[in-house]
Amino acid sequence: MSKTIFVLLDACGYEAATEYLGYLEHMVDCELAAKYKVRGELPSMSRPMYETVLTGVPSHVHGITCNEVIRLSNQKSIFSICKDAGLSTGAAAYSWISELYNRAPFNKYEDRIQLTPGKGLIDYGVFYWDDDYVDSHLFMDGEFIRKTYQPDFMMYHPMSIDVSGHAFGSDSREYAGNVASMGYLIADLVPGWLEDGYQIVISADHGMDNKGLHCGITDSQRNVPLYIFSPLVENGHFEETPVSQLNMAPLLCHLLGIPASKDMIELKEIHFK
Ligand SMILES: [Zn+2]
Repeated sequence: MSKTIFVLLDACGYEAATEYLGYLEHMVDCELAAKYKVRGELPSMSRPMYETVLTGVPSHVHGITCNEVIRLSNQKSIFSICKDAGLSTGAAAYSWISELYNRAPFNKYEDRIQLTPGKGLIDYGVFYWDDDYVDSHLFMDGEFIRKTYQPDFMMYHPMSIDVSGHAFGSDSREYAGNVASMGYLIADLVPGWLEDGYQIVISADHGMDNKGLHCGITDSQRNVPLYIFSPLVENGHFEETPVSQLNMAPLLCHLLGIPASKDMIELKEIHFK
């Protein structure tokens, strides 16, 4: 079984994840999952990092250098490699994901719900554009896709951590509360995903600093968690030496059993069985 779920927790920094994602930390402690600290790529902004995480190449190569570059990806991505290999893809995600891999600019009248393969690289998608779209609904949008169409690669992309981070900063009770709430939603879903035979990768695009910003180089803006549930990887804690965010795309390719693109880095930092 190579089916893989990818959860991208927008703006979930490494420290907050470690402090508040108790269920995931429990699974790592019990050697039922692996955990890494990821040194994020730059700029630590959303749209550039969506493209970096999903293509495995840095901003100066893929050209999505800021949030204002609104166009389709011109790189090999997880979605395009899945399509080349005959695998199906799904996403419950922010509209910028649709803009990178299905159609740009996003048309809310036509692109919100995508259930007919062939209109882009994402076969089945439900996309939102309000930053405060409720996480619990986002996950159930994804569950509708996953249970109805059983895509080989399924992405879930909630936004509320980013919203509270911008409003209150990463040291706030509100940001911590949103990370904690995300933990409850994930703890409710992961057992069922594992039972259905999915591998699971949970990470983030970038972190957040105490001023409510992310775009720069500090640890709080860059460092993000990586949790992996897969029979292919060694379980346990591997956080001591941060790994590059460029590992994310080739890691997903490896779990899916599809070839990495020639531009992706070699997977030397992840411990496989
Ligand atoms: Zn943000």
